[in-house]
Order: sequence, then structure tokens, then C-alpha cells
Amino acid sequence: MIDERGWKQMSFNIAIDGPAGAGKSTIAKKLAKKISFVYVDTGAMYRAMGYYFLQHGIRAEEEKKIREACENISVTLAYEGGVQKVLLNGEDISDQIRQEEVGNMASATSGYGFVRAKLLSLQQDMAAQYDVIMDGRDIGTCVLPNAQLKIFLTASVQVRAKRRYDELVEKGECCDLAEIEKDISERDYRDMHREIAPLKAAEDAVMLDSSELNIDEVVEAIYEYAKKAGLEA
Ligand code: C5P
Repeated sequence: MIDERGWKQMSFNIAIDGPAGAGKSTIAKKLAKKISFVYVDTGAMYRAMGYYFLQHGIRAEEEKKIREACENISVTLAYEGGVQKVLLNGEDISDQIRQEEVGNMASATSGYGFVRAKLLSLQQDMAAQYDVIMDGRDIGTCVLPNAQLKIFLTASVQVRAKRRYDELVEKGECCDLAEIEKDISERDYRDMHREIAPLKAAEDAVMLDSSELNIDEVVEAIYEYAKKAGLEA
């Protein structure tokens, strides 16, 4: 069935998890376009929450304030010409949430159960309705445990830091490679060691290391796995 936006409603779900900078979003976006799936970037939702906390001068340790702030936050996804936009209380903040500061705040606050609970049903509802490629940290383990295909995408810390660095330089942002590497290592540690929904591969996930592969090679590899998992070519 096709809805008014042209999205297929059958619900074949592909989950892509992995650490920061492994290339999940670039790859998921490209594959979604190729197979006409909806791309859902769950990291962007956590970033939207982090952005709100930063804007309101709330620190990551201030659990009570964060809990209260959650009551005032509405995160939604909208799609314009197939491109995902993230709305925070109706305002498009897709560009603002890409700053490193926002990513670090998202990571520092995503361990709170009430922050996660706020976003979980939105993610699950989208996947129940549509064919989605959803990327994040806990998609295969918690959000979509029944996804037809689960990929755990990794790359070495050095490769991931260099990719982030190149991205920022291309955007004209000044940055320091050693600092990015340190940020990424800290973010990995926090994401892997939090109590709720830590970053880890689902038991039935396909492990893919992208350190030595280019984007198209990874997209092709996942596409082949998806066909094996039942995706109609
Ligand atoms: O992927 P991205 O760097 O945009 O994610 C920002 C942060 O959001 C991550 O470091 C992680 O702490 C959190 N996150 C999460 N669960 C997800 C997606 C992102 O906890 N499914």
C-alpha cells in the first residue's frame, strides 16, 4: 500500500546500530533512497532533546530539571523531498543539531530512562507503519527487536575521527583532530556503559567494519544482506 506521501506501508525494517562516526547515517540515507525506504535518524531525535537542554542552560547532571524539561519538549520528524527534518516544538532545527556540542549533550543525557521513553514510541510507530531504515545505538536490541535485518556498523576510532574531522573542515568549521578523537572515545564509552539500552550489537546482527570500505561498498553489502533477509529486489 502506498500513502499520500508515496511511502510504502508494508513494514520491512532494517536496523543499523554502531558507534559515533561509523557512517551509519550517510549509508542509511543512501540505501533508503535506493530502495525507497523511509530513513529514520534516531540520533537526531536525541540531539534535538540535547539542543533544548543547552538552549535552556540545563546541565547534563541536572536530572530533575531534565525530567521537567521533557514535559515541554515535542520532537517530530518531517520529510521534505525525502529529506528528514527534525522539528523541536514545531521549529526546524535540523542544521543546529549537527554541532559537536549538541552531539555531546545528546550522549550525556540519552542515558536517562525518561529521555529514552519519550522517543521510543515515536520510533516504533514509524517502523510499524512504514518500510524504514532506522539508525542509532539500540535499534536492533531495544527499539526494533523484530527487524528483518540488523546491522552493527563499526570502524576504528582513528578512522571515525578522521571522517568527522574531514566533514567539519568541509563545512568550514575549525577543529582539532586529537580533540575529536577524544570526544568520540568518550562518547563510545558512555554509550556502551550506560545502564539503559547501551550501545551493543544484537545477537542476530550482521557485523560490518567499514574502516577499509567506501560508502558505496557498505551500501551494496547491506543491500545484499537485505535481499537475503527477504527484501524484494
Ligand atoms: O548518532 P548521533 O551521533 O547523532 O547520536 C547522538 C547521541 O544520541 C549518541 O551519542 C547517543 O548517546 C544517543 N543515541 C542513543 N540512542 C540512539 C541514537 C542516539 O542513545 N538510538
